[in-house]
Amino acid sequence: MNPGSLRIGLGHDTHRLEAGRLLVLGGVTIPHDKGPVAHSDGDVLLHAVTDALLGAAGLGDIGEWFPDNDPKWQGVDSKQFVMAAAAEVRKLGWHITNLDCTIFAQQPKLLEYKTRIRESLARVLDLDPGLVNVKAKTGEQVGPIGREEAISADAVVMLVRD
Ligand code: MG
Repeated sequence: MNPGSLRIGLGHDTHRLEAGRLLVLGGVTIPHDKGPVAHSDGDVLLHAVTDALLGAAGLGDIGEWFPDNDPKWQGVDSKQFVMAAAAEVRKLGWHITNLDCTIFAQQPKLLEYKTRIRESLARVLDLDPGLVNVKAKTGEQVGPIGREEAISADAVVMLVRD
């Protein structure tokens, strides 16, 4: 395979949690008593996926494309960020081969939501759900994740171009 035809991208995001805010992960609203403090909807998973896509294509990061001090992005549905990043990536001729991600949250338990989150990500990216994987980890009750002060997500994406 031509070495110019494959790219890998890594994304990470963290948001502080506060009582009474809406928790959205991968575009799926999760019932919980806390949610992220954010300029947009604070969807850490979609923000990590956006950065993984931009990173893989050498397009910088989410803060350059969607500055969090721009009122245009206030309270915005983060699916817009992912769709815009995927469109830029595809404009350059790249295809997404697969996406793998991990959500780090002490609470709530995400087991029952993982399939919905995976299907939601696949829909947003226009991918077969078999190409998307979602994992969930707690913070083992230590650090900001473990104390339920923060939520974070990692994402890795592979791109291929003919
Ligand atoms: Mg974010």
